[in-house]
Amino acid sequence: MFTLDNKVALITGGNKGIGLGMACGLAKAGAAIAVAGRNESMNEKAAETLCELGAEAMPVALDVTDADAIAEAVESVVSRWGHLDILVNNAGTTVRDRPENLAEEDWHTVMDTNVTSAFLCSKASYPHLKSAGAGKVLNCGSMYSVFGSEWVPAYAASKGAIVQLTKSTAVAWAKDNIQVNCFLPGWIDTDLTRAARRKSPELHQRIEDRIPTGRWGEPKDLEGIAVFLASPASDYITGASIPIDGGFSAFG
Ligand code: NDP
Repeated sequence: MFTLDNKVALITGGNKGIGLGMACGLAKAGAAIAVAGRNESMNEKAAETLCELGAEAMPVALDVTDADAIAEAVESVVSRWGHLDILVNNAGTTVRDRPENLAEEDWHTVMDTNVTSAFLCSKASYPHLKSAGAGKVLNCGSMYSVFGSEWVPAYAASKGAIVQLTKSTAVAWAKDNIQVNCFLPGWIDTDLTRAARRKSPELHQRIEDRIPTGRWGEPKDLEGIAVFLASPASDYITGASIPIDGGFSAFG
């Protein structure tokens, strides 16, 4: 039920952090994995890590804000393995600033990276997921799919939008046997959150105190949800958004 033998996955932002955590889960379950990101040496290093876990893996140089590059990346994966079964739209970024100060350019960078990319990658992957006869799309949301914050207006807008993109593509592609779901990480220790903690040093403890399980998450906490949403175990789940947050969003 949880095996991914003979499945091929493309993971954007798979070269570190949450994406690499998810890639490790998929690799252990038997999938071949294409790791896509802008940093080519990080892509290669991540692919080596996945090979050490016994998986086939390939690095793919990709800026997810470039629609032509997305189409090329998807084709390169299909030409390597002959099919594509799993797409993980994980690449993301943030710019921390209050709405009255946020530059329009930064708004577009965040929206393009976090949500337009998921639309474009999903669209480019759809014919292959459909022709495989079964497909899985995993979109990356956030606690800011649920909550707002004065410091991340563009980020929260992008993570709210991806929940609705998830529902719409889930409905559109249900009869093609493609399930589309969204995972909502809580507070995970990665470069993204380290940057925020450098700017606001009290943030780490304030958040830890509010997490019912009493600890920040780690990228490996995302391994299980990746396998579940990519495997036949979740075949009757589509359009859902699932928190992986140590209870953060359950705590009023
Ligand atoms: P990291 O900064 O550790 O990783 C971000 C990843 O996204 C990198 O692999 C990076 O690769 C890739 N990326 C960024 N911009 C682009 C781009 N334009 N084109 C291609 N790849 C890109 O962050 P996280 O692992 O924390 O974040 C991963 C996802 O999880 C994001 O969507 C984030 O919003 C989300 N998230 C994170 C949470 C957390 O607490 N850490 C909480 C909730 C959601 P490269 O630089 O090589 O392009």
